[in-house]
Amino acid sequence: MEVHNLMEDLVKSIIQEMFDAEKDKTSWCTCEHCRNDVACYVLNRVKPEYVVSSRGLAYSEIDYIDKLQRMADVVSLIKEGWAKINASPRNHKVQKPSTVLPPIEGPAFNIPPIMGRVFHGVTFEPMSDIDVFLMDEHNEPVTMMDENWQNPIRLYKNTGGTFIFWPRPVKADKVGKLQLFSFSILAKAEGFEELSHFVGLKIASEANPNLQFSMQNVHKLPDLYMLPYNQDEDDTI
Ligand SMILES: [Zn+2]
Repeated sequence: MEVHNLMEDLVKSIIQEMFDAEKDKTSWCTCEHCRNDVACYVLNRVKPEYVVSSRGLAYSEIDYIDKLQRMADVVSLIKEGWAKINASPRNHKVQKPSTVLPPIEGPAFNIPPIMGRVFHGVTFEPMSDIDVFLMDEHNEPVTMMDENWQNPIRLYKNTGGTFIFWPRPVKADKVGKLQLFSFSILAKAEGFEELSHFVGLKIASEANPNLQFSMQNVHKLPDLYMLPYNQDEDDTI
């Protein structure tokens, strides 16, 4: 029998690309063992896509939009699985020392992870090799949960223009206080108009900072588009 799960190819290729790209920037382990553990974590949580391998069906033949949506979910699950696997004690490799931010204790505004996708506004292809920023209301980059969560985020080639930011909880003076947080997604690329998308989140402070990444908490943004300069010049007449 030659039955093959296409999701396995997709998950493996995204893990390889993400782990390779973040190898030198992260304190999380990027070894082969952890790659396999993360792949299992993700593959146990996504719907498989079986094909008869002798027919040579490529993943790219699955409906494109569907594929992109799944990629965003896969990227998010990889982050979740990677965070969990690194938090559990292991003895196969000593972790690199991480630059730990001072802990937050007591009441906090827990800002959810913010996920979205950036596309080329004309070809609708996912953008890649550009930096995406999450800015606060003073136009400063927002501090992330820890150094394993980047801001800006470099968009990877295989991840369908997907970005995820996980801001650090903000200290609150009491529980149950409502506050509006104003962010903007900012992206610049040569030959494109600057992308700036406002994100307003009303958040109630909770008793403790939430340090557990969960896909359920992710705040998903509408798809964002970057427009090349002078795009309508040719068809205005
Ligand atoms: Zn490892």
